[in-house]
Amino acid sequence: MAHPATQKNSFRSDLGELRFVLWSQLKLGEQLAALGTYQAFSSDVIERFLDSAKRFADEYLGPAYQAADREGCRMLENGRVEVPSIYRSIWRTFIDQGWTQLGQSPGIGGLGAPFILCQAVNELLFGADPSFMIYSGFGVPVAQLIEKYGSRSLVEKFCPRIAQGEWTACLCMTEPDAGSDLALIRTMASRLDDGTYRITGDKIFVSGGAHDLTENIVYLVLARPKDAPQGLRGLSLFLVPHRWASDSGELIDNGVGCLRIESKMGLHGSCTAHLRFGNDRECRGYLVGANLYEGMVQLRSVMNQARISTGIYALGMASSAYLHAVEYAKERVQGTELGQSINPRAARVPIIEHVDVRRMLVEMQSKVEGMRALILRLAWYQTIVESSSLRGGDDEVSRQRKLVDLLTPLAKAYVSDQAWRICELAIQVHGGVGYLRDYPLEQYARDVKILSIWEGTNYIQAVDLLHGKLRVGNQSAMFDLLVDEMQSVRTAAAVPQFQHESQMLEAAIAAVRKMFVKLQEYAKCRKLEEAHAHATRFLESVSEVVTGWLLMEGAIIAKDKLASNKSGDGDVTFYERKLASARYYMLNVLPAVIMKSQLTETAYGTVPRLH
Ligand SMILES: Cc1cc2nc3c(=O)[nH]c(=O)nc-3n(C[C@H](O)[C@H](O)[C@H](O)COP(=O)(O)OP(=O)(O)OC[C@H]3O[C@@H](n4cnc5c(N)ncnc54)[C@H](O)[C@@H]3O)c2cc1C
Repeated sequence: MAHPATQKNSFRSDLGELRFVLWSQLKLGEQLAALGTYQAFSSDVIERFLDSAKRFADEYLGPAYQAADREGCRMLENGRVEVPSIYRSIWRTFIDQGWTQLGQSPGIGGLGAPFILCQAVNELLFGADPSFMIYSGFGVPVAQLIEKYGSRSLVEKFCPRIAQGEWTACLCMTEPDAGSDLALIRTMASRLDDGTYRITGDKIFVSGGAHDLTENIVYLVLARPKDAPQGLRGLSLFLVPHRWASDSGELIDNGVGCLRIESKMGLHGSCTAHLRFGNDRECRGYLVGANLYEGMVQLRSVMNQARISTGIYALGMASSAYLHAVEYAKERVQGTELGQSINPRAARVPIIEHVDVRRMLVEMQSKVEGMRALILRLAWYQTIVESSSLRGGDDEVSRQRKLVDLLTPLAKAYVSDQAWRICELAIQVHGGVGYLRDYPLEQYARDVKILSIWEGTNYIQAVDLLHGKLRVGNQSAMFDLLVDEMQSVRTAAAVPQFQHESQMLEAAIAAVRKMFVKLQEYAKCRKLEEAHAHATRFLESVSEVVTGWLLMEGAIIAKDKLASNKSGDGDVTFYERKLASARYYMLNVLPAVIMKSQLTETAYGTVPRLH
């Protein structure tokens, strides 16, 4: 396999946009300094990380993306899984450049970077090659979980190795009969005399299971101890190394067998394993924490981070797909200006001149910009929460914690759904060549689809938003908290240039409120089918107003920048483009929120039972 640098880079990124959100919209420099907890991460340092991440994405991951997909993973006779050969050298460089350490805490050898920087970096790295990034993807949340709940010896034994990228971490929840419904988990754990547990059972769909990229893998396994209660409350979390580390440091087979690797629609470079614990010999694991039955609570932060990462991964791919589409639309010459088609001498024009192609491009652009603003806003709130816990002052950030809770299902579900649509639109802009393997677009569509399915399907996110976060049917101030956060919309109404757009945003917020009231009504009189029939529509609508709010905020900044800088030509185009995409979103996407709100008023009879 050729070195990545000799292959064509399939990744496209827009650091200018990322910088706009970080520095102009979130005012990250001042805000981070005000937190006082991340002194090592000045604006210059953050900029250097962004540049390095882009370089790594462009020089290694983007060039490997299609090659690794074609080569795929292969199961070896010894039960380990061979990853695409191109990933081996990249992994070495990935570790040498310290990317596995970025978000890990200094106590275990990490760099302790603020959450928002990690997510900005992840947009570039996951966007460039998600299959490669999945191998290290659970490293930070799993190490943080062990640090929070595990004994000192577990932390010492596993966390520094995960932080250094010597070992990787995986999450093992799904079983053949337990997918969305984890209450059906059957994997068993029985206590042994030495205090460890014998683990027996099958876990399927384990991302990064059994690979041979590193000498060891740490599995977090959700299992049911002997005599445990039924359902979710009987589940505990176990740390199961693929190879057991003896006291002398020797690594010994720990009875984790790989029965097969899945043959998937996409993500061919990432192995998805069916593992059997206690396959041909005893498999041992450590209980995480001092008590049984705390598995679901312990997993909460891992799940939340995985959901945010899913959104980031979706954003990175959608952004690259959009930029590919713009590039192609500028080059491909086809057709004439409108009204000239029967004139044989009419000049042929690049397809970007056609209004329908421009419609597709601006649809993608406005959504990508909005999704980036949404995820980075969420990442900023999470940074404040983490900073506060580092200082030990938990209570002062309860507002930000609630906002993280509210925005997480939106970041996971809305962004993954839209990313899939954006990748499809990018193929459409390319016409027939978009359907070919010569271009990376068909792979984008294959690789992005999983995001609406894993980490809790998007329907589960919609239910989580309604019940878990907004507590529909009960008294809760969460919805008002979100509307209150969008206060800047009122400021926009005072800007003459945006009057029409801000009226539309206000109308959409009012429509979502009406929708919420209706869903409350359904829930209170136990019309659960009606409430759930509209759950996905509701999540989409809330996401659209939040995205609209953030795009409006960005447009006001862009307008001010334009007013104060007419001379800088490159910047003028950038800011004008931002104004145009925000306007498009307000006037073309938000009106659909009003329609969806009206649909909520109608009975669920629109969802028949099919026999
Ligand atoms: C490539 C890949 C990688 C994965 N990686 C991992 C991993 O690393 N670790 C891991 O543990 N798992 C992993 N998974 C599993 C993934 O998390 C599950 O596929 C997901 O949770 C959905 O479960 P399921 O596939 O059993 O679908 P099901 O639960 O059978 O759902 C099928 C459909 O029914 C709907 N549905 C289910 N229950 C309800 C309900 N009560 N009400 C309404 N609708 C419902 C769902 O929304 C969905 O549309 C991976 C899967 C894939 C494909």
